[in-house]
Amino acid sequence: MNLKIVQTGDPVLRKLARELAPEEIASPSIQQLIDLMRSTMRDAPGVGLAAPQVGVSLRIVVIEDRAEYSAGVSTERLAARERAPVPFHVLINPKIVASDGEEIEFFEGCLSVEGCSALVPRARSVMVECLDETSETKRIAATGWYARILQHEIDHLNGILYLDRMDTRSFSTLANFNRHWKDMAANTRP
Ligand code: ZN
Repeated sequence: MNLKIVQTGDPVLRKLARELAPEEIASPSIQQLIDLMRSTMRDAPGVGLAAPQVGVSLRIVVIEDRAEYSAGVSTERLAARERAPVPFHVLINPKIVASDGEEIEFFEGCLSVEGCSALVPRARSVMVECLDETSETKRIAATGWYARILQHEIDHLNGILYLDRMDTRSFSTLANFNRHWKDMAANTRP
């Protein structure tokens, strides 16, 4: 079973999501929500999903970047994005505690802004603190595409979409992105 992914314009995507108390995390309803978020993300498919995207205003994120998602992508493209597979994991109450001053721009998309893509500047690396699904404290150091995913998903918990951060002139349908921008050099701007 999967959950419905809400689209931009739904007020839940603009709310500040609520933190979970550590003792709440083990509850059957939260554990079931995490399971459903995992299957919903895999079916979409996407590399990350935040609870507000399934209509639940809680600070929960799931992330997984499977090797098969990059199967058709050239080595150069993966290297430019510093993209490598990331195993499935859960972040509860995540906080960016440090980030690189260096910002890099790549096209990104969002399951809640279906069929579109735009250039978004993001810090190249971040340090994130969170709890996992067993309420254990985690500290994650991420660089490249994984750092981008983390920033994108944590934005969702604060009611922020990539639309708020994008270079507006680069906003494209996926069809036009694939036709005109997909293979452009990282520093070429529309
Ligand atoms: Zn998103």
